[in-house]
Amino acid sequence: MNATDKLKNLHKTLENLADEGKLPLAKTARDVIPGEGRADAEVMLIGEAPGYHEHVKRRPFVGRSGQLLRQVLVKVGLPPETVYISNIVKVRPPDNRDPLPKEISAFKPYLDEEIEIISPDLVITLGRFSMAKFLPDVRISQVHGRLHKVSWQGKLLYVLPMYHPAAALRSTKMKEAFISDFKKVKKIIPWVKEQKQLEEKRHQVIENLF
Ligand code: URA
Repeated sequence: MNATDKLKNLHKTLENLADEGKLPLAKTARDVIPGEGRADAEVMLIGEAPGYHEHVKRRPFVGRSGQLLRQVLVKVGLPPETVYISNIVKVRPPDNRDPLPKEISAFKPYLDEEIEIISPDLVITLGRFSMAKFLPDVRISQVHGRLHKVSWQGKLLYVLPMYHPAAALRSTKMKEAFISDFKKVKKIIPWVKEQKQLEEKRHQVIENLF
């Protein structure tokens, strides 16, 4: 099965679980907002949870903060249709409250599977909730825009934490940081690809020694 079909299956699984009442926050399949974008994307962005507009349109990041995110993606040469965009929690929390730890845990296997399927060169976390998945003990104000190499499920993953676009809408300073962090991405991607190739080579050398 190719990656696109795997993602379609995953989204169907989530919708079926929602219909069966087995997902927190969801009453029916319609409440699930699946990830969106290319299955072979180099860059995967992970937000927090859908809001009102995402719930209505059944697409991630299409409200006010989504518009900012999508504009910035275009501006830095990464059109939204070339990346994959998802959320930690895939159903809208009531009154747009923060997702609860038990909700994050319930959706974790599906987000993990999305990461496995897409296998992105770079993961961009948007806001502190998705950052905490990979970098639990840091402060976003200290690490945003800095590339991290993390060990995740036995693999190396390159993670770039960013402010959430909703935070960028609230403060000029954060918006400037948000845009300037995104401007780094186009340079980071080829560097990460090179690192991955070098790691692969190192791997081969050790394999050939014995
Ligand atoms: N905020 C998020 O974190 N995700 C969305 O999809 C929309 C707004």
